[in-house]
Amino acid sequence: MSTNPAIQVRGLVKKYGDKTAVAGIDLTVEQGEIFALLGPNGAGKTTTVEILEGYRSANSGEIKVLGFDPATKGSAAQKWRNKIGIVLQSANDAADLTVIETVSHFANYFDNPKGTHHVINAVGLSDKENSKTRQLSGGQRRRLDVALGIIGSPELLFLDEPTTGFDPEARRSFWDLIRTLKSEGTTILLTTHYLDEAQELADRVGVINNGKIIEIAPPTTLGGRNNAPAKVIWLENGVNKEILTTNPTDEVIKLNKQFNGPIPELQVLRPNLEEIYLRMIGELK
Ligand code: ATP
Repeated sequence: MSTNPAIQVRGLVKKYGDKTAVAGIDLTVEQGEIFALLGPNGAGKTTTVEILEGYRSANSGEIKVLGFDPATKGSAAQKWRNKIGIVLQSANDAADLTVIETVSHFANYFDNPKGTHHVINAVGLSDKENSKTRQLSGGQRRRLDVALGIIGSPELLFLDEPTTGFDPEARRSFWDLIRTLKSEGTTILLTTHYLDEAQELADRVGVINNGKIIEIAPPTTLGGRNNAPAKVIWLENGVNKEILTTNPTDEVIKLNKQFNGPIPELQVLRPNLEEIYLRMIGELK
């Protein structure tokens, strides 16, 4: 564990009039970590992330992002902003600029930008470099948003539902891009509605509902998933058999002896992240 977390939040509260959108959140994201915030619509994810980005103000709470309070203004804030990359939930406005002009323009805002062509290539838009952004499809525009988020070589990258509108292939190549950024040391805070995305990318997942964190854990152990009963399935005399057990290893050893060798069509299934998540937010019994 690093002594200086990339993000440290204690008791974060945000109200809109009478509505409490964020009801006292504690959160630590370590340097170099990919952290995914999961939660249903209206849970408070975007509010939380936009407070961390300095775009909204909190009612109360202690917040440190790269050691800095995002509510601070002035030249120190400018320096801090240089180390942060942001991909907001809403896609950027379509414009008459081309992809390469847009990315080059953004690069000028940063002290240490990545190469324009390198970034356009990394998000899979090389063949659209000279297209006007208003001519891009929804998914392509979202890729451009991601390019603008990473052009400044951020230490910390915020991604609010980054792959909405991506086709499956684009999502896979986006995941590769995120893994590359992680391997280069970038810390990433991601919100997503895609459980497979959280499973693929996140070191830890925070589940948020009604403005509160329900649990923070790696995707493999969230909601006691690793200890949940497993289903052992096999074929016996042409009939599918299954048993629910907390000790699938013993069951498999027993079957292995029974069959005196390989167990026909053996499967051992744990509840997937989606089932666990839906149970946690009360949508599945
Ligand atoms: P989604 O998955 O739909 O993006 P979310 O988890 O990001 O949802 P938020 O956008 O943070 O949720 O919203 C949390 C709550 O705060 C919701 O009830 C929402 O209606 C409310 N809210 C968000 N922004 C505002 C605002 N500017 N003014 C008033 N209420 C707001």
